Amino acid sequence: MQILEGKIVSESLKNILKEEVIQLKIKGKRVPHLAAILIGENGASETYVASKIKNCEDIGFKSSLVRLEENIDESILIDEIIKLNNDVTVDGILVQLPLPKQINEQKIISLIDPSKDVDGFHPINMGKLVLGESSFIPATPYGIMLMLEYYNINTSGKHAVVIGRSNIVGRPMSILLSQQKQYANCTVTLCHSRTENLVSYCKEADIIVAALGIPGFLKADMIKPGAIVIDVGITRVEDSSKKSGFSIKGDVDFNAVAPLCSYITPVPGGVGLMTITALLKNTYNAYLQRNSL
Ligand code: NAD
Repeated sequence: MQILEGKIVSESLKNILKEEVIQLKIKGKRVPHLAAILIGENGASETYVASKIKNCEDIGFKSSLVRLEENIDESILIDEIIKLNNDVTVDGILVQLPLPKQINEQKIISLIDPSKDVDGFHPINMGKLVLGESSFIPATPYGIMLMLEYYNINTSGKHAVVIGRSNIVGRPMSILLSQQKQYANCTVTLCHSRTENLVSYCKEADIIVAALGIPGFLKADMIKPGAIVIDVGITRVEDSSKKSGFSIKGDVDFNAVAPLCSYITPVPGGVGLMTITALLKNTYNAYLQRNSL
């Protein structure tokens, strides 16, 4: 069994981006710029955005943060997006999800300029993904694909089971794994909360991507020996032994499942780190596209 170390992969990919930024600076060019919009005071969202900004700083990207109150009118957020769309110095825009109830998430995502949509959630980028055209790929599935590539894991012809069909993780993941490309070419089964006999699909899977948000859901008796297990889950579970009062749990019962796998990602230290790295790569690609226009 080999643990797929998000830290090692992300450090390696970030070092490449860092070097690109150094070269840009030497040539006197501006550096890539990611703008984030954070609404309200959701603890997890605060942590994610802070981490995205810190990672930008670490590799030399410019970042900026627009903070808005929880109870703002949708029109205020729309104005901020239009400003960032029109700002020629901004390459990537991300609106941290989830959004407050009064705001229509899909409408907001659709307003982001697709050429700056580094989260890859805009219908145009989603459509391109389905067609296998070059696009911004949602960061979590993209990060997982980068990990498979880094470890040179052969997925061709394998049966992959993706658990969870959200637009940001499960569904794009299922599309990516089914594409006729290297580190893909899988036969994919997309499972969700209404799937009957989920265990039987999992037991037949060569690859399982667990993205449902139920801590420890995937148990040892649900997997085939030698399977590749990718744990996307991130749930805060109360833990009085931690200073923060919680610990982070994945969707896989790691201690029981790991000995049976060929490869497995840990939580933390797996997919989460890759998500941020993929976002940085998308931002860099957005920058390159803008500068080649
Ligand atoms: P979501 O709530 O939008 O979707 C969950 C999906 O799981 C749904 O499609 C639902 O049908 C399915 N599901 C729920 N219960 C199920 C069950 N019992 N059996 C089978 N399927 C079931 O969640 P999401 O945004 O896709 O996130 C999923 C998990 O991944 C969460 O823990 C989230 O925090 C985490 N996440 C991690 C990263 C990362 O970078 N590692 C990024 C995004 C999300």
